[in-house]
Amino acid sequence: MKKIIKLPGVTKDKRKFNLMANIELSFESDLVHSYGASGIGLFRTEFLFMDPETVLFEEEQYLIYKNIAQKIYPEKVTIRTFDIGRDKGVKYFKTGNERNPALGTMAVRLFLKEEKIFRIQIKSIIRANENGNIKILFPMITEIEEIHSIKKIIEDITEELREEKKLPPHKVQIGIMIEIPGTIKLIKHLKNEIDFYSVGSNDLIQYLLAVERDNSSLSYLFNPYQPSVIESLIEIREEAERTGKPVTICGEIAGKPLTALMLLGMGYTNFSMNPLSIAEVKRVFTNVHFSKIKKIVSKLPEFDSKSKSEEFLIESILRIYPEMFIKQPVF
Ligand code: PEP
Ligand code: MG
Repeated sequence: MKKIIKLPGVTKDKRKFNLMANIELSFESDLVHSYGASGIGLFRTEFLFMDPETVLFEEEQYLIYKNIAQKIYPEKVTIRTFDIGRDKGVKYFKTGNERNPALGTMAVRLFLKEEKIFRIQIKSIIRANENGNIKILFPMITEIEEIHSIKKIIEDITEELREEKKLPPHKVQIGIMIEIPGTIKLIKHLKNEIDFYSVGSNDLIQYLLAVERDNSSLSYLFNPYQPSVIESLIEIREEAERTGKPVTICGEIAGKPLTALMLLGMGYTNFSMNPLSIAEVKRVFTNVHFSKIKKIVSKLPEFDSKSKSEEFLIESILRIYPEMFIKQPVF
């Protein structure tokens, strides 16, 4: 792996790409460099809130975020505010007995109600941005009013930190997750609202296809090669580019060689994944020509089924790169 992770992030025809790490526990930030990640593309902070007995206060959270940011400097860390609800329940949040939690009070919907805990988290993150390498990401955005409310809270907190003389000189960048299908149609209105996008393909696929992401008996439906998934991923990339804002993809498909190649061919250049997948994805990307993968991927919208798309993708890639999917030792 040493050799692969040290290679520059470029394809054979010099298309640049960034491979970042998804982390869930703060100690994982120690491993980021050794796995060859160029920063942390997704820190899922909900795992800091899973202990039902303890609420983390500002000082504790501030130290956690500051530590991670310092460790990975000059690379960046994208901290996602806690994505709680649905499968990720926490006792001290009262979501009530909703009939359908997957469509219920979760993530930003929950913390715009539970503003106190949300404010503590945002304040800790902004305060921790002492080196200017922290970005803040909001999950499960449905409508622009949520973004306005969040920005208002950020403004208030910035003022508070300024008065307390704890405000770092760097402005924190704000991003939203695109993981609810309807939100794709909002992107074109967000030019002046936010700084970046992150595609949560796990939830995007779940909601596009109305298939629970962890339901093993329906896993045949939960598939990234479904025509609606392919077209949506293309649309997100194109819409983000039109608004001039960078987009990262951070769901599971970013870390699997075949789907990662599909995303590369769609034009994605920022990928965030399980750190263990980075070396393998880098091996695959550094061995292809972007222009050739792009040409193959541009044909995918012509297919009406997941199996046709997947077969076409595999066959076309193997025709040019016959050894592409033979597992190579990357460690
Ligand atoms: C996603 O939905 O793809 C994502 C990255 O977020 P999570 O898996 O934490 O819901
Ligand atoms: Mg998600």
